[in-house]
Amino acid sequence: ELADWQRAVREQFPIITAHPDVTYFDSAATTQKPRAVLDTIETYLTTANANAGRGGYPWANRTTALVERTRRRVKDFLGDPAPDRSGVHFTGGTTEGLRTIARDWLAGLLSDGDEILVPFADHRANLDPWLEVRDLLARHGVTVRVRPLPYQESSGDYDHRALPSVIGPRTRFVAVTHVHHVYGGDMNVHRVREAVGPHVPICLDAAQGVGHVPLSVDRLDVDFVAFSGHKALALPGSGAVWARNSPARGPEFRPGGWQGTPNTVGIAALEAALDWLDATGPDRIARWTQALTARFSEGLRHLAPYEVLGCRASLAADAPVQRRHDIVTFRHRDIPSDDLGFILYSHGFMVRADNLCQAGTDKRDGSVRVSVHVYNTAGEIDELLGVLAGLA
Ligand code: PMP
Repeated sequence: ELADWQRAVREQFPIITAHPDVTYFDSAATTQKPRAVLDTIETYLTTANANAGRGGYPWANRTTALVERTRRRVKDFLGDPAPDRSGVHFTGGTTEGLRTIARDWLAGLLSDGDEILVPFADHRANLDPWLEVRDLLARHGVTVRVRPLPYQESSGDYDHRALPSVIGPRTRFVAVTHVHHVYGGDMNVHRVREAVGPHVPICLDAAQGVGHVPLSVDRLDVDFVAFSGHKALALPGSGAVWARNSPARGPEFRPGGWQGTPNTVGIAALEAALDWLDATGPDRIARWTQALTARFSEGLRHLAPYEVLGCRASLAADAPVQRRHDIVTFRHRDIPSDDLGFILYSHGFMVRADNLCQAGTDKRDGSVRVSVHVYNTAGEIDELLGVLAGLA
């Protein structure tokens, strides 16, 4: 039954159905777009394209309404319990979103002797902005200590048991990731909230969450969320920051509002993508993609020359495969990852093969990442396993 549903869903992705000879396994880098999103882009540009927040004629009014409606849509999609108090700021993507939070909010929160807690083995986009704030403040004579979030070597999660040892009375901020872009693990952010208590603001990098797995800001109890449109079935160069805006957890977030022209096409596509995701069913999508990643890691762990990557250490037979979302990253004992990527493409598989922008790594730490979305099938996974078995 789930398979019938998926067949119909897959049909809605023109680039997938038009290329039966290749398989796209790089959805963690960017996702393909359903017909509904493509149609929305064309409709918007051919019926209402104008600048937003200015002008008093119908196209401009419709574009302004689109932007405001999409703000509300983002709040709904994230399960925002108090949408009248929160804010949504449109960005060019997660990287820009995190940097905006750092510059327009965190820099104004910190004073001499404060501490912030950040992940040193997640995506670089979720490390550099926080280090930049520290360096900026240092130039003004304000010393901020950056402490690394502890990881659990066995699972790739944050180590919630070790968290109390890095949290202190001067801890003012924590940056975390929703789903890890290398390991695919859900980082169990609710446990970080339990450890830091109710008053320390938490910022979530949801680049691999939004559009992939259900996300509730209420359940996770985070204060900021940054995500990218292009990883959620919408366009590159679009994205948003959601901010709880509760003064109890720091100053209000005040990014530049209507001073510039927003990416209106990107916003139109984002609204359509969130509508499509909700109509298709985020839970069903996640069930499908988790089944695919479980099938893949299960198959891979029986092939001797491959190791599936966990946290900084490699995870062999006891890898907790069932909790991976959408992403499996692995190495071959003998074949360098870029060669493996090349071999796989010669068989029609598009995968990512390098160090995956992970903080604390360089080119020598190459690996191959297979990431799926709702348009992928179990047949594609089995074919890939067949090719990998041939290299064993
Ligand atoms: N964070 C994570 C976890 C990611 O996977 C990515 C994209 N690979 C980013 C941040 C950056 O996203 P973008 O390039 O869309 O800004």
